[in-house]
Amino acid sequence: MSPVNLLQPNLILGGPITLITPAILDQYALKGLILDVDETLVPWQHSQVSPELSQWIEEIKECTLSLWLVSNNLSEQRIGNIAKSLKLPYLLAAGKPSRRKLRIALEQMNLPCTSVGMVGDRLFTDVLAGNRLGLFTIFVDPMLEESQTDTSWTHIIRNLEIYISERLGVSLAAQNKTV
Ligand SMILES: [Mg+2]
Repeated sequence: MSPVNLLQPNLILGGPITLITPAILDQYALKGLILDVDETLVPWQHSQVSPELSQWIEEIKECTLSLWLVSNNLSEQRIGNIAKSLKLPYLLAAGKPSRRKLRIALEQMNLPCTSVGMVGDRLFTDVLAGNRLGLFTIFVDPMLEESQTDTSWTHIIRNLEIYISERLGVSLAAQNKTV
């Protein structure tokens, strides 16, 4: 697979993860989702999920067979607490773009990879890992603290990944406008 294909998300949401609706899951025949945690579900500065996010998870639980959290974060305390508050299974220290822990989640989900969405805010970790495994990759805008500035290190890294990917030919225009 070429670098472009490996970095090209299947769906560019053009907003935060909470824009994923049951209709979108239906449209792409997705039965399960693997979710990144940091800045996909929760801003770095927060240790707890927002009420809006909890409500979205409950809505998505009702129309999927399986949801997993797979994070590169090494902190059992942070990721474990977030997962427990959402009542979701989780794996940490995933080392995405490694496929190893995504494979473990996928085996537990017992779903074909084409029926599972990998949702994340980073191209070089979440999208790359998901595409390497043949998952349906969904690229979301990061969940940021309101006061966070454009000079924060995660913002700079994420934008660098976007810049490099677009130079390689990856298209990152939001696609869900009509959904
Ligand atoms: Mg992230």
